[in-house]
Amino acid sequence: MTTFAELGLDPKVLSAVSDAGYTAPTPIQAGAIPPALEGRDVLGIAQTGTGKTASFVLPMITLLGRGRARARMPRSLVLAPTRELAAQVAENFDTYAKKTKLSKALLIGGVSFKEQDALIDKGVDVLIATPGRLLDHFERGKLLLTGVQIMVVDEADRMLDMGFIPDIERIFQLTPFTRQTLFFSATMAPEIERVTNTFLSAPAKIEVARRASAAESIEQAVICYTASRKDRQAKEKRELLRALIDREGEGCKNAIIFCNRKTEVDIVAKSLKTHGYDAAPIHGDLDQSQRTRTLESFREGKLRFLIASDVAARGLDVPAVSHVFNYDVPSHAEDYVHRIGRTGRAGREGKALTICVPHDEKWLTAIEDLVEKQIPRVDSPLKGGSDDRGKRGRHADEAGASAPERTEERSSARPQRGDRRERNSDRGAERQPDRTADRHGEDRNSHTHERSDSHDRNRQGRSGANNRRGGRDRGYRDEPVVGMGDHMPAFLLRSFKPKSEPEPVTEDQVEESAE
Ligand code: AMP
Repeated sequence: MTTFAELGLDPKVLSAVSDAGYTAPTPIQAGAIPPALEGRDVLGIAQTGTGKTASFVLPMITLLGRGRARARMPRSLVLAPTRELAAQVAENFDTYAKKTKLSKALLIGGVSFKEQDALIDKGVDVLIATPGRLLDHFERGKLLLTGVQIMVVDEADRMLDMGFIPDIERIFQLTPFTRQTLFFSATMAPEIERVTNTFLSAPAKIEVARRASAAESIEQAVICYTASRKDRQAKEKRELLRALIDREGEGCKNAIIFCNRKTEVDIVAKSLKTHGYDAAPIHGDLDQSQRTRTLESFREGKLRFLIASDVAARGLDVPAVSHVFNYDVPSHAEDYVHRIGRTGRAGREGKALTICVPHDEKWLTAIEDLVEKQIPRVDSPLKGGSDDRGKRGRHADEAGASAPERTEERSSARPQRGDRRERNSDRGAERQPDRTADRHGEDRNSHTHERSDSHDRNRQGRSGANNRRGGRDRGYRDEPVVGMGDHMPAFLLRSFKPKSEPEPVTEDQVEESAE
């Protein structure tokens, strides 16, 4: 096995690595450090959790050991897609460069320009930045990139997802042609390939195994769950989540709970808090100081549950996360790998539990294809317990064969449209405010669903079952069909409840409407 000492790193770096407690380099470190130290370009295909940050920070510190920083002309540049990732790289730099005199500046949004300008004016060896903020500084004339000898692009596939590739290309063009480039991406999409072909010169290519196949330390399980009624799914899922957390008991020291939508992140966090769980949300629409505070307290063990979107949490290095809960199955299989990679880090034990409703089964299949194994199914803790399907008895059972069919039809049509929009919006979430008015419309619809069944049934009455019966029922079309679901012939239900009688408002609906 290779040792750190064999890699050719500066003794001060080796000493800092040993202080950090690392005994041997990880595969990406063993593969990337030697060519980087030779001054070659490196293309690292590796995900977060593999030790890739040290694989570029350690050689960078060694190479910069000689020479001095000049005012406004950083000697090296690290680009990361999100503020949190940039801050994480900066922390890594502090750890490994603590025995050197090298300086750094972190350029991220949400921090005052003044402070950052002062550092740049003094001269820094390493500039760590998000692409947008770096270009802002450049355009204000405060920064020269012509002194950059080493440029790192971290999480390039994430940059692509977030629409940063044009910015990256521009930054490449602002740095000297002779620079050394260290480029990292978890996957090689065609667009990433094009960028590397354009800006890297005969790179040493190091590819390390997918974390999902490598991380044996993560215990994975899926809880398949069918709601008692489509319009109760959201409420019951939150109940299921609480039951899962409770079932894990003391073993669940802390957890990241992933949701597919930012609105859901807020709802789940709020709901958990209401039920007495120590939870806080993190997603791209929250302001930076709040995100930083939340993340800090989670890292320090003061916050037990972090409810997160993919964009906010991807690449975060929180060393001791006991559990990951996927409140939603991610619609992109690769996100699953990233999500569960938040736990079981650096050889620790971890557990990843995924809730899967019928609509999400196709995504689960895609994940199992990607990780090349079947994820074990475990029972829902709600079975026979607080799952109120049993209690409604006749009501639920009478739905018979035809009702689930129709429910399925609706559930697969609506979320798919929304999901595509969510995908697009989430991709740009770190850069711009949520532009998904449409999606909110969709979310609102699903809440309306929970609040007012009669309204919903009116809608179905106009477009669905009643119309299919031809002209016979036309007279009932605007009558409310209340309380029994749309499988019931409307005439049986007409006398049950007068149109004007309101549905009782539950505690949960109040909670949601506050969202
Ligand atoms: P990264 O992929 O850079 O996010 O690193 C994932 C985690 O692995 C971080 O918590 C690092 O501190 C840790 N790590 C990095 N290199 C090593 C190593 N050689 N041995 C053990 N842990 C490491």
